[in-house]
Order: sequence, then structure tokens, then C-alpha cells
Amino acid sequence: MGSATKLNIVVTGGAGFVGSHLCDRLIQQGHRVYCVDNLLTGSFSNVRPLINHPDFEFIEHDIRDTLEIAGRIDRIYNLACPASPRHYQRDPIGTLQTCVVGAGNMVELAREKQARALQASTSEVYGDPDIHPQPESYLGNVNPIGPRACYDEGKRAAETIFFDSRRIHGIPIKVARIFNTYGPRMLQNDGRIISNFIVQALKGDPITIYGDGSQTRSFCYIDDLLAGLQLLMETPPEITGPFNLGNPHEQTIRQIADLVVAQTGSKSPIEHHPLPEDDPKRRQPVISRARDALGWSPRVTLDEGLRATINYFSLKLFTRENMSAP
Ligand code: NAD
Ligand code: UDP
Repeated sequence: MGSATKLNIVVTGGAGFVGSHLCDRLIQQGHRVYCVDNLLTGSFSNVRPLINHPDFEFIEHDIRDTLEIAGRIDRIYNLACPASPRHYQRDPIGTLQTCVVGAGNMVELAREKQARALQASTSEVYGDPDIHPQPESYLGNVNPIGPRACYDEGKRAAETIFFDSRRIHGIPIKVARIFNTYGPRMLQNDGRIISNFIVQALKGDPITIYGDGSQTRSFCYIDDLLAGLQLLMETPPEITGPFNLGNPHEQTIRQIADLVVAQTGSKSPIEHHPLPEDDPKRRQPVISRARDALGWSPRVTLDEGLRATINYFSLKLFTRENMSAP
């Protein structure tokens, strides 16, 4: 990004997978960072290296409660929300409240501070899509009463709050629809596919494919996502999005299992488990909007990204460092 101005930036969910990488990057770029997290699925160890930095402040706080910060705030990245189905379904009402009440509190803070606010939305707003690949104009196919609804509908409502706050109060908002993103610092017990498969492969445990493995996802490496989020945040106020941020390289779940087994040299067998309810069958972003307006497209191949992620988990498993959420 290369911003010459030092900005005061709030990152909610800053101790999580995406948020902690964002905090690192913002500190490296010379900004002041307020990392706001209730440590539900995040880990203090993700931000421990930053804790003594004079421009870094960790605030243990639940975004469902009003957030008060003294002084100037220029940017708010609202990333707080459990992202893995295993975690967001553990307390579905809490998840919905984090999405909705949390987003409301963050736009209120943006209003008070005259700051820009960016909402981390998701490809899940498209539900189990009946249009493929998914452009931002697609309105989605979400089951409002299923087990994924707390997250999907919560994120949809958060987008609504963001856009209404712009219409009513003129708040400069940005919405990123993030597609499956992976990389170092995902939790070992996160439940998402990449961390599950890598940990299983490294331990020699069975690789758990849900369903027949023919469902697809498109995986974006963390560094590419962060570049997209920052480019979006720094666009002029009239640019709001939503923008799909994801890697259009679509893979079946079976292909991912084969790739992880090949890269780790694992002898793990494949084990099939029931497909979770409402599991989307296909997912692939159309990214022409981000390409045109932000000049963004992903650069890291799945091969490279997996290698880096496997290295991370190998090291962690080897040193037996705790990487699990409670
Ligand atoms: P994560 O679970 O690693 O991080 C979420 C962070 O939010 C955690 O540190 C958690 O403790 C914190 N949190 C949860 N509820 C909170 C609350 N009420 N108050 C304060 N903090 C709270 O997940 P992630 O993968 O880093 O995802 C970050 C954001 O990006 C989420 O909003 C998620 O919905 C979105 N997103 C991620 C992906 C992905 O593939 N990683 C895809 C789409 C969208
Ligand atoms: N999945 C799988 N085995 C696992 C974890 C996930 O087959 O151990 C499948 C899951 O059913 C889904 C895909 O991988 O089809 C991606 O799941 P994840 O939870 O990572 O993300 P999401 O479903 O939210 O895209």
C-alpha cells in the first residue's frame, strides 16, 4: 500500500487468523493499531510478538458491546466473527449477534470518529449458489433457517447495516466478500478444510472428506487477501463495493485432499463422512470488479500457499505448541 501517513486503525478480530496477519502488516507499514478481540477463536499468541510495540494496543473486548476508544481513529476493519462452521455453529445466536450488533457498533464508532469502516463479509452471502461462478450482482440462495444461517444471514444483515449507515449518515464504508482463505495461523482444531487436511496428513490420521468430495471451493492465500483488503480500504469514499476477494482457481475437495497428501508425502487414508447440512456444492468468485477497480488479483498459487501452510503446521506440531481454541 505504501501509505505515507500514519493512521490510527482498529482491527476487530485482530487476534484471529486474518486479523493478526493484518495487524502485523499495518504495524510494519508504520500505522498505530488497536487490536480488538474477545479471544473466542483468536489466540493471544498470534499477536504476542506485537505486544511491546509502542504503536500496538490489544483491547480485550466483545464487539457486541459498545467500543470506546479515546482519540482519533481513521480506519476500522471489522473482522471479528468466528469463521469456521464448527466454531460459528457452537453458539449460533452469539454468532448472529456478533455479526449484526457488532457491525452496528462498528459503524457507530466510525460515525463518532469520522472514520472509514470495512466489513469482512463472505462468499457465504451467496449460500448454495445456483449461479456459477458468483458475481457480486448475484443475490444469493441462503437457507434462513438452516445451521449455517446464523453466519450467512448475520453477514448479509451486516452488509445491510453498513450500506444503510452510508445512506443515512454518509459513513464511508467498504464491503469485501471474502472467499475461502487459508494460511499459517489457522487453528489446529479450526475445522476448516485446509487446516484439517494438513494436520491429518502430518499426523498420519485419516483425511476426512465430507460427502463424495465432488463439491468445490476456490482457495485464496492470506497474503493475497490482505493486499485486497488494504487496496479496498484506501479507495476513494465513493467506492463501497461489495467486492469479491478470492482466488478463482476452483478445486474439488477430493483434489485438495490429493494435493495435501502429495505435498506432505503422507500415508493417511481417505475417509468419507456425511456431508454437513446446507454445504454449498460449488463456489468460485468472479473477480473482475476487484481487478478493474482495485487493480487486484491473487498471485500466490495453491501449490505455493499450501507449501507455506504445511511448513507452519509441521513446525507447530513438531514443537507441540498449542494452536487450539477452547
Ligand atoms: P478467526 O475465527 O480466526 O478470527 C475471528 C476473530 O474474531 C477471532 O480472533 C475471534 O476471537 C474474534 N471474535 C469473534 N467474535 C468476537 C466478538 N463478538 N467480539 C470480538 N472478537 C470476536 O476467523 P478468520 O478466518 O480470521 O476470519 C476473519 C473474518 O473474515 C471473519 O469476519 C470472517 O467471517 C471473515 N471471512 C473469513 C474467511 C476465511 O476463509 N478465512 C472467509 C470469508 C469471510
Ligand atoms: N470439508 C471436508 N472435510 C473437512 C472439512 C471440510 O470435506 O475435514 C469440506 C466441507 O464439507 C466443505 C469444504 O470442505 O464442502 C470447505 O469447508 P470449510 O469448512 O473449510 O469452509 P466452508 O464450507 O465454509 O466453505
